[in-house]
Amino acid sequence: MVNLYTHPFDAGPAGNCDDDRFHEECGVFGIFGHSEAAALTALGLHALQHRGQEAAGIISYDKRQFHVERHIGLVGDNFTKPSVISRLAGDTAIGHNRYSTTGAPVLRNVQPLFAEFAGGGFAVAHNGNITNARALQHELQKRGSIFQSTSDTESIIHLIATSQKAPLVDRLIDALSQIEGAYSLVALSEKKMIGCRDPLGVRPLVLGDLDGAYVLTSETCALDIIGARLVREIEPGEMVIVTEHGIDSMKPFQAGKSRFCIFEHVYFARPDSVVGGSSIYESRKKIGRELAREAPADADLIVPVPDSGNPGAIGFAEESGIPFELGIIRNHYVGRTFIEPTDSIRHMGVKLKHNANSAILKGKRVVLVDDSIVRGTTSLKIVEMVRDAGAAEVHMRIASPPTTNPCFYGVDTPEKAKLLASRMSVEEMASFIRVDSLAFLTIDGLYRAVGEEGRNALSPQYCDACFTGEYPTRLTDQEQRGDVRQLSLLAEAG
Ligand code: AMP
Repeated sequence: MVNLYTHPFDAGPAGNCDDDRFHEECGVFGIFGHSEAAALTALGLHALQHRGQEAAGIISYDKRQFHVERHIGLVGDNFTKPSVISRLAGDTAIGHNRYSTTGAPVLRNVQPLFAEFAGGGFAVAHNGNITNARALQHELQKRGSIFQSTSDTESIIHLIATSQKAPLVDRLIDALSQIEGAYSLVALSEKKMIGCRDPLGVRPLVLGDLDGAYVLTSETCALDIIGARLVREIEPGEMVIVTEHGIDSMKPFQAGKSRFCIFEHVYFARPDSVVGGSSIYESRKKIGRELAREAPADADLIVPVPDSGNPGAIGFAEESGIPFELGIIRNHYVGRTFIEPTDSIRHMGVKLKHNANSAILKGKRVVLVDDSIVRGTTSLKIVEMVRDAGAAEVHMRIASPPTTNPCFYGVDTPEKAKLLASRMSVEEMASFIRVDSLAFLTIDGLYRAVGEEGRNALSPQYCDACFTGEYPTRLTDQEQRGDVRQLSLLAEAG
């Protein structure tokens, strides 16, 4: 789900109006046929908090009417009160976590979105990005649609509303067949809960079971928290329809080859989630081992940049035989909204999130392991901190290839010009972040770590556009803005 544009009245204190890039990450959850539907949805969203921390919403249905709660802020701050949960009556509910860096959070963009169609109410929660949303919005507005939000997901609602097909499921299929990009959806009508993944399966969606109630959610960690059993993953291009009679599955879209997001393995998914039968934690350790084989370092300590670098650093330490130490301690109580009280304090380089553990680092040759470098600001700060703590040498190893291209499919990345690796060679980056050596995992090493023999250049097994610039779908909105210089062969052919 993305912002289509930044409204002047949506702009935050930073006044990000000039920045209309899409910046959203999301998690979805739905449960059908359980007396505690809303409370379980709140728990599921809490487990998915890493996928979006700005706002959350739940919509339930009690066989008479839909109930809606949308709040800015964390799930734990807004959905734990019994009064909120009791307002979400019914044995069916869907929910959504959202994170957006563009503009101030506004409730009208918080999902699930809801519409009252001629055939009844309909709610939808979306993880992913629609890459032709602006073009669709433009067309729909020409035909008379009035948009209520700046979210790309609203296009789906208007496409359903204006579809010439008859039953709701056919209208949804009709709507989705006009959409480009990535979507894992959970939707709710009066009789059905529907789950659907785009034909490439870029974002995850799994099916679970809790005491006979069906659950649809982004990651298995949201099943674990409520004690639900993983049934299976929803397949790329699959739509499942849950009713009181059971579950139906169909493949309404032209089958594509799966292109699951490889960055879910690198950073995005929670380490205790399982994807494609593999533990994300294990994948990240294997990534660390590959990195140690490809880019060894002569050092005394392996130190993760917590928390995202932890599993990779464990793998690196295991493979290299160099001891693993927590040389950087993370403060877990820093929300993303924490703002230093005054400008002078901000400029003091206050160590809000990380602090070096100097007792461990003093006089040591240190290998820092992090999952990725995006803008380079974290690495710059961390390296300085580790040197100030007395490290004799600082080497940096990154558990992914250089991030050279923005994601248009639902991972928050800045525009290309702000990605350090799009502007600098590895040597230049090493001198920019002031390390003694810097190395990234190769793309083949990453593929090996996630169970492939390497990257199939003719037909890549994953979406790896952030590392390669090969986008697996058309990017109509970007093309129309002239933003995309590098398109995949597939996109050009399509
Ligand atoms: P930067 O300071 O911009 O180079 O960011 C690098 C850090 O951000 C790494 O420690 C990553 O774990 C983390 N990171 C990577 N991708 C993302 C993302 N999409 N959203 C938030 N943090 C990220």
